Amino acid sequence: MRIGIDLGGTKTEGIVLSEQNQSIERIRVPTPQHNGYQAIIENIVELINQLESAVNVTCSIGIGTPGSIVKKTGLLKYSNTVCLNDKPLQADLEQILNRKIQIENDANCFALSEAIDGAAQGYNNVFGVIMGTGVGGGVVINQKILSGPNGMTGEWGHNILHTDGSECYCGQKGCVETYLSGPGLVNKYRLKTGETIDSVETLLELAKSGDSIADKIMEDFYDNFARAISYIVKILDPEIIVLGGGLSNIGQLYTHTARRINNYFSKPVSVTISKNVYGDSSGVRGAAFLGGQK
Ligand SMILES: [Zn+2]
Repeated sequence: MRIGIDLGGTKTEGIVLSEQNQSIERIRVPTPQHNGYQAIIENIVELINQLESAVNVTCSIGIGTPGSIVKKTGLLKYSNTVCLNDKPLQADLEQILNRKIQIENDANCFALSEAIDGAAQGYNNVFGVIMGTGVGGGVVINQKILSGPNGMTGEWGHNILHTDGSECYCGQKGCVETYLSGPGLVNKYRLKTGETIDSVETLLELAKSGDSIADKIMEDFYDNFARAISYIVKILDPEIIVLGGGLSNIGQLYTHTARRINNYFSKPVSVTISKNVYGDSSGVRGAAFLGGQK
């Protein structure tokens, strides 16, 4: 059986997947981020011990986390759980647990889960997209996560979409993430009106009720999504693009995009865009599937 751990900034979730890919045990605990790296390590080990005690067998272990491990150094980078950065998370856990484990970026786990038995089941070239608080992505080819030396495969969130765009926390201007994330959209409304709104849902309601500024922001959003996806298609040409994260609930992304993508090609292309099947569980399921990956 396979244990998957989804190590988030506020909560850590663990599941045990049966050989039939059914979740037979599930535990969710807070992530003790403010107590530092060692506390997070102990928390993960305790969670794994509890899950294994519940099913009474030794399992393979996969962990999904924001950020990525640089192959050369084995150190985690770009995690928003900042106390994990520049730490050898995999080596430290392997030493305590006395076995090999697998760690991957959470967007890669999402893509893997959807490729194995979710929306992209049966497809060999899959791009999994997370659009929520941030923007991430992962590539799965023949049910294996595609990885490179920098741990950057599929990380399209900081591709530059408009060189004169607004500033991104990464230091660049006009990144995909400033256009296609929840905070990015909410921020655009504030910049244009001076009014603060609480969520993308509010923005959608305003657009629906005839607020012309909200409507324009959403129209630009669909167009920016199409533009950003056209760059992915030109490099990877995925058979399917699966959307996850909070913004994947915006229905028009699936109905408005195909036509707009063709604005960025000289000849029509066919791009399949689907919503995820497993929602918030894709990350932890994908982490469990890492056990069979390497
Ligand atoms: Zn950026």
